Amino acid sequence: MKNSFFEGNFYEYKGYTVFPRLNLEESYESIGNSKKKVQRSTLNCIYCGNLIKNEKVNYAHLIPELFGKNKTHNEYECNSCNKLSSKWETSLGTFTLPLRIIGKVKNKKGKIPKFKSRLDGFNESTIIYYDERGVLKVKLATLNDFDKDKGKLKFRVGSHNPYHVYKAFLKVALSLMQEEVLEKEKWMIDYLFNENIDDKIFPILYLIYMDTKIIKEPYFELLRYKGGLSNHPKFILLACFGKSMIQIILPLSKIKKKIVIHLPRFMEIIGTRKIYNVEKIDLENNLNERRDWIFDVSIKA
Ligand SMILES: [Zn+2]
Repeated sequence: MKNSFFEGNFYEYKGYTVFPRLNLEESYESIGNSKKKVQRSTLNCIYCGNLIKNEKVNYAHLIPELFGKNKTHNEYECNSCNKLSSKWETSLGTFTLPLRIIGKVKNKKGKIPKFKSRLDGFNESTIIYYDERGVLKVKLATLNDFDKDKGKLKFRVGSHNPYHVYKAFLKVALSLMQEEVLEKEKWMIDYLFNENIDDKIFPILYLIYMDTKIIKEPYFELLRYKGGLSNHPKFILLACFGKSMIQIILPLSKIKKKIVIHLPRFMEIIGTRKIYNVEKIDLENNLNERRDWIFDVSIKA
């Protein structure tokens, strides 16, 4: 099967030459996941270092609940860090909403969320939702949002901060690190607390969309590079929910001109978004932006 993403073999980004490869499974090993609790010997918050012993802790969710009900908790996060990250999760929620609707991800109330588009000068929003019978319904504000002939449905997503989306994922990745790993990689925590994006940040989000599969419970996994080559990112986070698998590259300790990115080998990821097998989305912007997602949907006559 021809996969357009890998045609051309490499691309340029931020001064890097990026070589995508399809052998994540061979090159990386799992060193943590959201189903396995990380035990730590500390009583301090892993992010800011504050003592949380005497705090009245409302345990923070390790996987944000917007990805669906889950029992994951991070007991090593203080209330103020939890509060700080809720801002990033707002952007994460806005950014991923179309993926969650198409992937039928239920929110904490047990419902598939409703989509309300930006106004963009129209009097009302386009509304996209599932009705009680599980049928996808659309109330169009403009005919531009739906190409009937091609079956392309547009989600005009509202304002969100792309770099905050990156931070929300980075925060989860750090909480999946075992104590001794986190000790060595502590420097990454700084990226949560400051707003600059330097060369160590490779903020490309890879979206792998699987139309044939639905992940019932959200699942996050932290992977570490097994080989000895310095131009491969050491850590990768995989976030799986609904029909989506998102890959995030954690900050790079060594900056190389050439970088090899490994992706999972899913070859049947053709389906609702036929034009993309793997989509790469740049999250470098630290200012609010708007985004359009387009999905291919089939309609009954
Ligand atoms: Zn904290």
